[in-house]
Amino acid sequence: MKIVKLPKENLAKFVSSLSSFGQIHAPVKRGEKSLAFGPVSDFAQIQLNYTRTILPLKKYFFKPIDTMFNFSAEKGYELPMEEPEQRNVFFGVHPCDIHGLKILDLVFSGRYVDNYYFARRNNAAIIGLDCIPDEFCFCRSTGTDFVDSGFDLFLSDIDESYLVRVGTSLGDDMVKATESLFRDIEKQDREKYKGKSIEKRESFQIQIQLQDLPGIMDLEYDSPIWEELGQDCLSCGTCSMVCPTCYCYAVFDELDLDASSGRRMRRWDSCLFKDYALVAGGHNFRAERSSRVKNRFFHKQRGFVSQYGRPSCVGCGRCKAYCPAGIDIVEVINKLRSEIRV
Ligand code: SF4
Ligand code: SF4
Repeated sequence: MKIVKLPKENLAKFVSSLSSFGQIHAPVKRGEKSLAFGPVSDFAQIQLNYTRTILPLKKYFFKPIDTMFNFSAEKGYELPMEEPEQRNVFFGVHPCDIHGLKILDLVFSGRYVDNYYFARRNNAAIIGLDCIPDEFCFCRSTGTDFVDSGFDLFLSDIDESYLVRVGTSLGDDMVKATESLFRDIEKQDREKYKGKSIEKRESFQIQIQLQDLPGIMDLEYDSPIWEELGQDCLSCGTCSMVCPTCYCYAVFDELDLDASSGRRMRRWDSCLFKDYALVAGGHNFRAERSSRVKNRFFHKQRGFVSQYGRPSCVGCGRCKAYCPAGIDIVEVINKLRSEIRV
């Protein structure tokens, strides 16, 4: 992998140059404390030292609400014409969110390829940026604190400069387009990078053991923990909405007033919602809140492992940070583990 160095004083110029590769999106302030990925026109808007955005990048490729096709008695079915050539450059994506995208890529390229997702995903450049964990992050435990693919460029802070790993030919084009801004790396840069890597590893406040969790979950299928969690959970679905790897959606039709035209839509759904498992005839397979919370944990940490060989959690800490009932994924996992010990 090609590795170069970008002095920090050249970062603003480099980011501005990215606009020739597409619309730049980066973490920007939303209110006092919150951040979100949004379009930027000025480098000064970008928040470089952030921990997490409210929503992950999935909102761009798998939109919260989306038109699948339009229909009318006159024209039949028509795919929506939506800026098909719009290229986007996402700057400042953290390793856990890059892993989240890799999981969505896997899911949406499965048996039925999701063309809505890939039409946007294939037009996106990813510029990663390393980060320092806060009290909610546990990506080291999920093995997603580092990335070696899934980005065009990846920037790691080595004090006066960024060490830049070039992941794709598009990333290489970006560097070549502004070659005079970059420098070759030297011995002290390599040492700085290794030192920073140790610093990051040592700054994790949470460590959980996940390797043997699927087996433990099988043993704890009937644990009273699920009942306790069901009493606290508000079924608000926030944990699914903010999760970079949750991908459920509901499909519905919206009819125009003339009742002869309309559109088929899809919108994010959550297995925590009361009617998620409601079927024709009125039976609800997960009518109890406890069974819905249990389902979320089992899907992420058990079912997904069976299907894809890894859990569908990247340790971003969003569900823990934003759950209004204070349900903490790390605490739940630790409780499940300690139940086994006693
Ligand atoms: S965010 Fe918390 S309260 Fe809301 S559905 Fe998820 S676990 Fe339940
Ligand atoms: S389950 Fe929670 S911590 Fe894991 S990826 Fe989803 S939001 Fe992040």
